[in-house]
Formats: sequence, C-alpha cells, structure tokens
Amino acid sequence: MKYYKTLLLKSAAPDLTYFSQEQIAIGTVVSVPLKSTVKDAIVISEIEKPEFETAEIISISNKKYYTKQMEIAKFISEYYFSSFSEAISLFLPYHKNTTHDNTSNNKNREQSEGISPTLSTIQQDAYEQLLKKDRALLFGVTGSGKTEIFISLMIKMMEEKKTSIFLMPEISLTPQMEKRLKVYFGDRVAMWHSKLTKKKKASILEDVEKGKIQIIAGARSALFVPLSNLGLIIVDEEHDDSYKAMTRPRYHARDVAVLMGQKLGAKVVLASATPSMTSYHKYDVVKLGKPYVEVKKKYHFITGNSINRPILNMLHKNFIDKEQSLLFLPTRGNFKYLYCESCGKTHLCPYCSVGMALHRKYRHLKCHYCNYTEAIRDTCVECGHTPLKSERMGTVEAIEVINSAIEGIQVEQFDKDSITTAKKLKEALGRFESGESNLLLGTQMLSKGHDYSGITLSVIMGLDYILGLADYRARERAMSLLFQIAGRSGRAKEANVIVQTGDAEFFKSYLSDYELFIQDELAFLDLANYPPFASLAHILIAHKDESKAGKITLDTVTKLKAFKDIEIVGHGKAPVERIANKFRFNILLRSKNRVPLLKALHAVDCREIEIDMDPIEFS
Ligand SMILES: [Zn+2]
Ligand SMILES: [Zn+2]
Repeated sequence: MKYYKTLLLKSAAPDLTYFSQEQIAIGTVVSVPLKSTVKDAIVISEIEKPEFETAEIISISNKKYYTKQMEIAKFISEYYFSSFSEAISLFLPYHKNTTHDNTSNNKNREQSEGISPTLSTIQQDAYEQLLKKDRALLFGVTGSGKTEIFISLMIKMMEEKKTSIFLMPEISLTPQMEKRLKVYFGDRVAMWHSKLTKKKKASILEDVEKGKIQIIAGARSALFVPLSNLGLIIVDEEHDDSYKAMTRPRYHARDVAVLMGQKLGAKVVLASATPSMTSYHKYDVVKLGKPYVEVKKKYHFITGNSINRPILNMLHKNFIDKEQSLLFLPTRGNFKYLYCESCGKTHLCPYCSVGMALHRKYRHLKCHYCNYTEAIRDTCVECGHTPLKSERMGTVEAIEVINSAIEGIQVEQFDKDSITTAKKLKEALGRFESGESNLLLGTQMLSKGHDYSGITLSVIMGLDYILGLADYRARERAMSLLFQIAGRSGRAKEANVIVQTGDAEFFKSYLSDYELFIQDELAFLDLANYPPFASLAHILIAHKDESKAGKITLDTVTKLKAFKDIEIVGHGKAPVERIANKFRFNILLRSKNRVPLLKALHAVDCREIEIDMDPIEFS
C-alpha cells in the first residue's frame, strides 16, 4: 500500500492524505473522495503510513504537471500569497501518454517554409541585439515594426525546434493579429484567451502535445499552456495593467514570464512604446529607432474639463470634411478628485505625493495610501484659482452632447459597457473602418492594440483627472495614455491632436521623447521611495462585522510593527468602505527590499487577510 499527500485543485484547503495500490508519480492528477463528493487533486508527495485512517484514491488520470511547473507554482504561491493549489491551478497539466508526432510537424514546416518578414536595417539591428540577450526590453514607438521582429524571433525558434509564447493584452487579440500570424505560421500557431470554448481549448492542447502547435499567442493565461522545449516568451505592451491578476493568485504575468524564462532557459522579450518604469530600470533596453512612417502631428493644448466649444468646432469641421475623429475619456473611477481648472494640479498628500480623493459625505479630502485627511479647500494651493472642480463625464453623456451639437454625426461607443464580446469589438472596428461611423468615442480601451491610422483628429480629455489619481504611477499612466492614443491615430495622414489639460507645460516637455519622461519619472520615484526603488504590499481586511474588521487590522499592524526594515505607510478604512455587505480596511506597507517585506507578511498571513504583493490598485 502507498500513501500520498494530495491537494485539491483550485482550493485553499490544506493537504489531504489518501492511499492507493499503485505507484503514482508526483504531479499526477487523481480523483479523491471528499465527504460525499469526488474531487480532482494533485499528488504532491509520497509518505509513510499515517497514524490516522485514510480513504482510497478513486482513479488516476493520465494528466500530470511537470516538475518545473510545480516549482514555478511554488514560487507564485509564496511570493503572491496564495495556496499552492491555487497557483498550480493556473497551469494546464499535460497528458502522459501522447508522443510527439514528428511527421506532421515536418510536413507543416514545409508548407510555409521560406516565408519570413523583410526587416529594415533598424529592425534587423534590434533583432540581432535581442538574439544575444536572455531577457531585454524592446522599446519602440507605435508603428516602428515590433511585430515583424517578434515574428522573426519565433521563426528562429522554430528553426531551433523550440516553441514560443506570445502574450498581449486580451483586447489586442483581434482577428487582424491572428491573420498576420497565420500568414507566417499557418496551423502551427494558436490563439489562446478566456473566451475560447472548452472543446477548442482541448483540441489546441492536443495539438500542442503532439507538437503540431509550436506557438501560443494569447492573453495572460497563455503563459500556462504546457509547451515543451520553450525557447521564447514575448510580452507585448508590457506596461499594460491587465497583466496583473486582480484575484488570487494576484500574480503579474510580466514578472512571472521573466521567472519562467529563467527557470526554463527561455529568452524573454518585453516590448512597449511606453515601457513601465520597472522594466526600463531593471532590464537591458533595445531601442527600435524612430518610426519608419514619419508623420507630422499638430498638438493643440486647451483648458477645461468638458466637451466645450473648441472641441465641438474641431469635431464638426472634421465631420464636414468627411474625415474621422477619435475622442478619449478616462474610465470613471470610484472616487472624485479635486483638481484646478486653471493649472490642472490636484491637491496632493503631503506625505505620499499622490492625489487626495474627495469624500463629500465627510466634507474632507483623504489620502488613500496613508489615510491622512484634511478639510475641503476652496482654492488651488498652486495658483490660487477658485473654485476647484471635481466633475467628470461618462461616455454616454459625451455622446449626447456631441449628437445634439453636430447633426448627422455617427458616434461609435468604445468602452467596457458597449464592447462586451470579441464579436462586438470586431463589428465596432468594422463600422469605423468602412466609414459608417465618423467618431470613435471611448475609454482606456482606445489605447490598446488597434491602429487607427486614418484618423485625422484625436481629442484627449481627462488627463488631469488621471494625473490626480491617488496612485504613485499617476503621471506614468497619464503620459503613457497620451503617447499610446496619439501614436495609434493619424499615422497615414497629417493629424491634429487636441489635449485638454490645465498643465500643458508638463505634457509639452515630453511630447517628442518618452525616454526623457522615464528618466525624470525614475528620479521622482527614487526620491519619493516608490517602485522600482522600493517594494509595496497591500493588505485588505474584509468582514461582515465592522468592529471585527477593525480589530483584525489593528492586530495585524501590531504584529507588523515588530519587524525591522518595513514601513507601515498607513492603515484604516479602505477607500471603498463596503462591498457585498463586508466592511473593508486596508494596510499599505513599504520596504526598500522585498525580502524583509515577504518575511513579515508570511509571519502575519492568515485566512482573515488578503495580501497583494506589488499592488497596482489601492481601493
Ligand atoms: Zn491651480
Ligand atoms: Zn498620504
């Protein structure tokens, strides 16, 4: 008789011991009885006969996790504070019995052999630099031809009989990208994302195991497809926040990709037109020169915080001229921020250098990092202008204003409320490309993946609101958005970009050079002690009983105070005080290094608190 420790998949439950007549390899998926049900579990170790009575494993599947997958899952569970089972459940196991079908593999290779993109001298140079590095950041503006370099790298991998993973934000997974990859790789590439059916996923996995599919292109979850002999991981738009998981395990796909690359000996290429401060600071940078389509863009800076006369006039003129326009509005957050219409500045927390949110109910401003509060102000501290504004506008209201001012204009709403499926995305882009709609009006979604090269007028609103967010990355988010949106539009023709902000000087000084912005921003982050120069961790406490939640918070703070080299930035009621009938409290921690932070957090970790390492959201 053999005895095994097992963990239920997708569960935070502790390990359970079962017996079996058979020898079972570590990592095998088995079915076990639990109370009156049957559950899937993973075998984690073989042990001596225990003192207590055990039940028998019901069946042994032919699915198994690789040792490396288990090692990476262990890291994820320890670094991101999830159970091992929750971490390993991110990965897909492979089937033990399948063997590689090399004949079909070779046949496929012959079909599209010889097709490879022609690289410009600048692209060729970047490609060769990337070949020499284990991991690097490819920094090139929109339209500089990063995709051709990715394709060349993937072809190179194939020649070496290695596989590749190509990650992109979910919204960029358009049929256009699929078509582009199919030209070069035919059936050897598969798209992987959350909207695939179970059947489709199973068929892709079968082809992966047979070696028919050698490239997986997809959203964050594509990282966990069990490709054998992985040679390359590409993380396109590496700055994008959708790479960070918002539920347990709260991993960051970019950072896990780098770790996987190290563990599996695969090359990692991060890429962006507006790289994250962290990647620029941490990795070798390969620059992709200037865009090869040089187009003159005219920037106009206007003040205000609504769709005012100058904006309507420009939109109207463009409509009359039968040209297409784009209008960006930031997603409406949960909080209001007070900002000055005259200079664009937000009132900042004196301790944290982030914007303070407006709580009308309590008639005060509050810092979401350290919980410092102060009375609502009537005038701007920077310029003395009065009064301060806090109104914002949503996409629906904006469409109403435009429709009533410009007769006959067809507006395409492009946000999370209207683009709910891949089909709707395709239809909306189709209507715009065919000229059926005249104005694309949307939120952050506009800054991802698509190119709107025919657009001759872009209006970017709400940057002051983003600049004022209680987020140490507020400036980065605002600047990145401006570059992403301006870069994706008007590449084919001369184009106008209207930027509505009270702080034109800030944006103007970096317009021609994102790298200059990165350098200044890194200096600020260093001074203010934020990542990549410090590590942050966010603890959330939620409980139906408000006083219980408060007590857990204080107890946790007391325990944390015993640890050296970590700083408790603040603690108290969370910005969103109540969700689903639970009262929420939070604690923000900081440390120069992640090691003392992890050590302290592992000591206080318990079921009653939720820990988010390297948080990007603080609500
Ligand atoms: Zn002001
Ligand atoms: Zn503060």
